[in-house]
Amino acid sequence: MGARASLFLWPAVLALGASLSASAPAFARLRAPAWLGQRGYEYTRDLVALGPRPPGSAAHRRMETFILDRLRRDGAEIESDRFTAATPRGPLPEHNIIAKFGPKAGGIWIVASHYDTKFLPRFVGADDGGSSTGLLLALADVLKEQPPQSPIWLVFLDGEEAVNKEWTDTDSRYGSRHLAQKFAAEGLVPRIRGLILLDMIGNKGVQLERDTNSTPWLQDFVASAARRLGYSASVFQISGAIDDDHQAFLQVGIPSVDLIDLTYKYWHTPQDTMDKLSPRSFQIVGAVTLETLALLEAQG
Ligand SMILES: [Zn+2]
Repeated sequence: MGARASLFLWPAVLALGASLSASAPAFARLRAPAWLGQRGYEYTRDLVALGPRPPGSAAHRRMETFILDRLRRDGAEIESDRFTAATPRGPLPEHNIIAKFGPKAGGIWIVASHYDTKFLPRFVGADDGGSSTGLLLALADVLKEQPPQSPIWLVFLDGEEAVNKEWTDTDSRYGSRHLAQKFAAEGLVPRIRGLILLDMIGNKGVQLERDTNSTPWLQDFVASAARRLGYSASVFQISGAIDDDHQAFLQVGIPSVDLIDLTYKYWHTPQDTMDKLSPRSFQIVGAVTLETLALLEAQG
């Protein structure tokens, strides 16, 4: 009798479940899946396996194909911003890739990373260029599973690194300077509510710096997100003024925050390799990024 009764109950339970999900809000709050850090680490390993990836190299072109394939698989709307940069090495082809998720209308949030590596012998840029790009690809996988309620654009910036050994204002950030000007020329700046820049995030025991050039209110959201997740020990325990891609966007009026770990001992050396990185660091930074976006979306 019990079994028979439950058999008759099943259709009712299923119908109730269906109506509950139909009346639930269309969009869930963004949340980091447990696989996020490992996935970001694995994408980084795939990129590093291509070898040094400076603009104009064959490995860079293979990396572009790799990134575009995964973004298409995730259903992103892709915009390519191609241009030729005048550099001390002569003209170089540059390619910013914009992957758009969520609705077309409304205020836009951007998460960005540079994906080029510096022109240095035997330099594969596991942390510098690799890690934040791998994490951005993992975030694309999350946004496929969790369609956001606002437009979220993942931006892969080219040409962050100086072509010469020394960084200068004119020899660096070719991609971000070009894209920021393009956003300004298209009248997009008022629609872009904020930008989170990821750079060098895979270091074991990651320590994200509080950058004094970044937008303070956006940093407050990041700090709140870290606190809510229990990751405050990894976020903003040290501070300094950082030159990075976010400055080009700040200059055109887009609120921007740089999340970067400059304590990395292997920066710009051939020892910047996968063995220095930890999937847990990817998990921490990825989760803080998603929680920050969730808090920003919740404030409307
Ligand atoms: Zn670098």
